Amino acid sequence: MPPRRSHLVGLIGAGIGPSLTPELHERAAERHGLRYVYRTIDIDALGRPASDVGTLLAAAREFGFDALNITHPCKRAVLPFLDRLSPEASLLGAVNTVLFDGSAAVGHNTDGSGFARSFARGLPDADLDRVVLVGAGGAGAAVGHALLDLGAAHLTVVDTDGARAGDLAADLRAHAGADRAGHAAPADLPALLAGASGLVNATPVGMAAHPGAPVPLEALRPRTWVADVVYRPADTPLLDHAAALGCRTLGGAGMAVFQAVEAFRLVTGIAPDPGPMLADMSALTAPPPTAPRLP
Ligand code: NAD
Repeated sequence: MPPRRSHLVGLIGAGIGPSLTPELHERAAERHGLRYVYRTIDIDALGRPASDVGTLLAAAREFGFDALNITHPCKRAVLPFLDRLSPEASLLGAVNTVLFDGSAAVGHNTDGSGFARSFARGLPDADLDRVVLVGAGGAGAAVGHALLDLGAAHLTVVDTDGARAGDLAADLRAHAGADRAGHAAPADLPALLAGASGLVNATPVGMAAHPGAPVPLEALRPRTWVADVVYRPADTPLLDHAAALGCRTLGGAGMAVFQAVEAFRLVTGIAPDPGPMLADMSALTAPPPTAPRLP
């Protein structure tokens, strides 16, 4: 029997020690009978700035890595060190996967397709007439383009950084048409939500380190579907409130899984079954069972 090849993959980012991505990839690889090792390269733990991503990329390549995932804060910082970009990475100006292809380092971005597949699965037939997108960073850009590609008639981008919201809205108009995107300030959210068919949170608000909700919750209406890109915790205050109100909701776990599904396919050439990966994600993000009370 010829020797089976192995895959060595890594994740470069800050504070990624608790990331679930290594476990998701390695479990998927096991199901496909692949030899696959996934390691984190945490710039915080290494005491390196994001601008060192090029050095780390070169070192990973020398040490035989086949591919790398790239996360915050290196998704843009990595661009100068790449030889080519996929159309998605080029459109978003950000990379979350690098493949070493012969002598070339090629940047891809699977965040947008990850959101789109999760959205199509979790909120089929959602009304895409007027969508509010809060957060104009890397995730917001990927989600914004994905929503317009899915057919959103109009998207309003809101960010505490008004220039970022304006820049993303301008990019979206250039891509999808002059009447399909605009931007607004957080103070406009009550009026926007009164008429919104859907709302997406693409800010970190709702994570343990950024508690609270990114919109005034009293402004939500039951007819508005609500999606969050945050997936730890799975039930953010925004999603909890929206579900209690009767809104259709979608958590960020599906996006995280489907972006990993596509990254795994890029690395191995094998499209993994998302079903078991979604089940792994729910198991890995489930709150720990509460200990029984002693009498
Ligand atoms: P980022 O820092 O690039 O962008 C976040 C943006 O949110 C910034 O522009 C910031 O100004 C804005 N913001 C912060 N608080 C705000 C508020 N209260 N109101 C309005 N705007 C606000 O971060 P990012 O890389 O875009 O990541 C955002 C979140 O998305 C993180 O929690 C990240 O973990 C998550 N994410 C999830 C997935 C997934 O697969 N589910 C993928 C990528 C990112």
